[in-house]
Amino acid sequence: MRAVPKFTFGVGDRFGQSAAAQLQSFIRAKAAGVDLVPVWNKSNREHLIVGSDPSATRAAADRAVKDLGWEAEYLLDADHINCSTVDRYIPHCDFFTLDVADSIGEPAESGAIEAFVDRHSELIGQFGIRRDDVERTAKQFLGATQKAGEIYRHIVAQKGGEDDFVTEVSMDETDNPQSPAEILIILAALADEKIPVQTFAPKFTGRFNKGVDYDGDLAQFEKEFDANLVAIARAIETYGLPSSLKLSVHSGSDKFSLYPIIKRAVKRTGAGIHLKTAGTHWLEEVIGLADAGGSGLELAKEIYAQALARREALCEPYATVIDIDSAKLPTSETVAGWNSTQFTGALRHDQSNPAYNPHLRQLLHVGFKIAAQLGDTYTAALHENAETVARNVGENLYDRHIVPLFID
Ligand SMILES: [Zn+2]
Repeated sequence: MRAVPKFTFGVGDRFGQSAAAQLQSFIRAKAAGVDLVPVWNKSNREHLIVGSDPSATRAAADRAVKDLGWEAEYLLDADHINCSTVDRYIPHCDFFTLDVADSIGEPAESGAIEAFVDRHSELIGQFGIRRDDVERTAKQFLGATQKAGEIYRHIVAQKGGEDDFVTEVSMDETDNPQSPAEILIILAALADEKIPVQTFAPKFTGRFNKGVDYDGDLAQFEKEFDANLVAIARAIETYGLPSSLKLSVHSGSDKFSLYPIIKRAVKRTGAGIHLKTAGTHWLEEVIGLADAGGSGLELAKEIYAQALARREALCEPYATVIDIDSAKLPTSETVAGWNSTQFTGALRHDQSNPAYNPHLRQLLHVGFKIAAQLGDTYTAALHENAETVARNVGENLYDRHIVPLFID
């Protein structure tokens, strides 16, 4: 097992052009006294939409690390994989997110539920858990934990018996949040499967829409988050799971109002954390293009116009994680008349700016397919405007994410 560092931060580099700008932010964090480890992640869906391969993510990360002389750790996450999608990631990744959300509710092997309940009488009484709770939770989740075991063993076999990687198990892409009691029971079951799970991504209470702030009850989130940390600590103690086991927050990016809560909890308990973001770094590239003006701004406008024209198809795969009010999307004619300040003001995630438009932001967030189809036109524009793009990518990551989460 490769031990996961205490503080890890997942970033996405959809077009393989921004790894250096992202790494600069981790260098700044290190200079400020915080050892924060970058984890470049990209899901199979993103690879399919962009038409890229995990080898390219690896090459971009390695190049940035070499160019900037980064000597600390970094990781590459095969994000949200399963048995049918993992194989092409295996040679390139050292962090695997086993997504078993689709197996929640699937029946476990016969006899397995009863055996689990009998084996885990120690659960009864913790978080108010009763015997029938163990049984109900096992019915709901045991199949998913067995699936995680299957994927884990598949990766180990493909890697030739070595498990020199970090294992994450994710159950976030589902309808109902998991309670701290359920998390403890799930971790017991993952330990039974002999998975050295080091990060666990539950579904938290509230809505985690893509690229915009948290929508939910902050007090309730804090209560559950704190209890989740207790569940993690107990699972380490009771089930012999790795002492590095920590919560993974699949944020959908930019859950700014949760950052003070997470920061407080991590500080108080000494717990580690993995925070996963991805898509908003591509938005910073678009902001950088718009910020540069001229042909960069024109391209940003064209991306918006095309995204607007194809919004139904673009939004469809993300329906459960976006809330876009079409009436609040400006027409492409309106946007065509915007200057740099108007475009960046609408897109940049600055809630204090009255020009900020979360509907436009969410649409562009899921609109990276448009940039992918622009191909070289898009990447050439990033090169032409490299300085402005890098400044926006870097400032966003450092000032709006790393500082509020990790720096005093
Ligand atoms: Zn996720």
